Amino acid sequence: MNIVSYGGGVNSTAMTIFLINKSEVPDLIVFCDTGAELPATLEYVNYFSTWLKDNAGIEITTIRKDGEGLYDYCFRKRLVPMRQYRWCTSDWKIKPFDRYLKQFEGDKIVYIGYDAGEDGRVTSALSNYKKYKRPTQVFPLHEADIDREGCINIIKVEGLRLPLKSGCFICPFTKKSAFREMKRNNPSLFQKALDLEANCASGHVLRQGHPLTEIDNQCELNFDYDTPQPCGCYDGD
Ligand code: SF4
Repeated sequence: MNIVSYGGGVNSTAMTIFLINKSEVPDLIVFCDTGAELPATLEYVNYFSTWLKDNAGIEITTIRKDGEGLYDYCFRKRLVPMRQYRWCTSDWKIKPFDRYLKQFEGDKIVYIGYDAGEDGRVTSALSNYKKYKRPTQVFPLHEADIDREGCINIIKVEGLRLPLKSGCFICPFTKKSAFREMKRNNPSLFQKALDLEANCASGHVLRQGHPLTEIDNQCELNFDYDTPQPCGCYDGD
């Protein structure tokens, strides 16, 4: 059984199209909704699922962890997701995905959308799946030497819109510029992120040492202290 791990971003979208164009239509395309996904990500999952249904006869299966979503859990526990520990990825992405696949008998191969420029992430994924006895993983974009630009091209050739950056709206890997954009374009969502930080019992903030209130107050300032450090759920800008 071949399963695409779909993240709602550029890479996994391009990889899915790439497989279909090679007549390797997957048996399953699975998107794991954390309960704190960016609205644009959820919208793109629906948009791409419709395209898949029309063009390949398969739709995206959305799954969720049992119980509370990530935002509600964090609020109730009075904490925020943190870069160092990544329990959010493990508990709201990886474990629900692996648990969902357990219902299917036989060999399973999971397709991951790391591209030709992501050697480090491929190496790390390979070592982790052996360590944690996860299903076999393959990296078709990486193997075919398709880089980020190549991924964008694959999507454009099909006449599809490009996805925006995927992930959670409370992700600690979110760039300051993206929070700034969220404040402008979706103030109620940004307020929810502010509320989560204000509610955090330990005083930790999403962007280490830089509370979101700084973005609230300095919204128009044109500086950014981000370093590129994508999270494991990251699936394209
Ligand atoms: S996108 Fe960010 S907040 Fe969401 S599960 Fe991944 S690391 Fe955690």
